[in-house]
Amino acid sequence: MIFGFFALLSTFISAETTTSEVTRDYCSLPDPIYADGVSAADFGATGWSYTNAANWADFVVTCGGSFQSPIDIITSGTTQEAVQPQINYQSKDAAVGYEEANKPYTKEYEGEYSEIEVTDASGSIIRYYAKQFHIHTPSEHTIDGKYYDLEIHFVHQAIQDDEQDCNKVKNKLTVFGLMFQESQSAVDYDVFKPWFDSNATGEVESFDLNDFFQKMSDTTYYHYNGSLTTLPCSQTVNWVVFQQPLPISSTQLKQFQDFLSDSTLFPIKHNNRPIQHLNGRKILKGTAITASVSEIPDVEASFVQTLSMAIMIMNILIQ
Ligand SMILES: [Zn+2]
Repeated sequence: MIFGFFALLSTFISAETTTSEVTRDYCSLPDPIYADGVSAADFGATGWSYTNAANWADFVVTCGGSFQSPIDIITSGTTQEAVQPQINYQSKDAAVGYEEANKPYTKEYEGEYSEIEVTDASGSIIRYYAKQFHIHTPSEHTIDGKYYDLEIHFVHQAIQDDEQDCNKVKNKLTVFGLMFQESQSAVDYDVFKPWFDSNATGEVESFDLNDFFQKMSDTTYYHYNGSLTTLPCSQTVNWVVFQQPLPISSTQLKQFQDFLSDSTLFPIKHNNRPIQHLNGRKILKGTAITASVSEIPDVEASFVQTLSMAIMIMNILIQ
């Protein structure tokens, strides 16, 4: 019996240590498609495009709601935020790959990345997993009326587990918006290369989301409650938009722009939704902390899970 227990334990451990596969449970997103009486068949890339962005509410009523994104961030009207988010993703050494997702309206990488804690606009600390990032060009948000050449959205979805009650999470998504501006001195980002390299598999073996944030000398951000900027425009996003644009080379910027001009979905060669009304929403301002933050890597968390499962089995065996 004891031997059986150890064999079982070692099976679990070796399974965990030879692969970084981690099962992730996310808080489910509200489904405004069904709530608004629009059938799933009506929701798809065929119906909407950036040429009919003013009429998206005809496809999904939520798109005409009062908490829509993107917005123009007028910096003089912002209020100082009391709690600052700490941004430190899992180390780039982790064997977690990002894979290109085949989306008709953007370039997107999906992957299982690390956990992050973010204070939402109501002041609660919510735990999210980084899930995917994708591109808009030109930017969706504007800051004091200014557009940037490109905006990346880092999408995080709230974690569902014993410690976090999804019913208490108002914004199931936290999205970080990072601005990029064309610069002659910019060095190409490795992470973007597989998107445009026909020989590449579309997978990035090792990518550190921290790299972008660590290139910022000023981590000032703007924080507000908003929505997805594509259909179904769900109003469940805790937005954190960073002020300082990062440099992007002319070559890489052009690659993204050419992707849009190649597609029949983008006859107007952009994938940014027009600016939406603020409707009295408050915009908070703060400075993110991007260094000297420690967190538990996912692999370690899985090991704890395995260990507790093993202890549970041991208890059963002992009984
Ligand atoms: Zn986006």
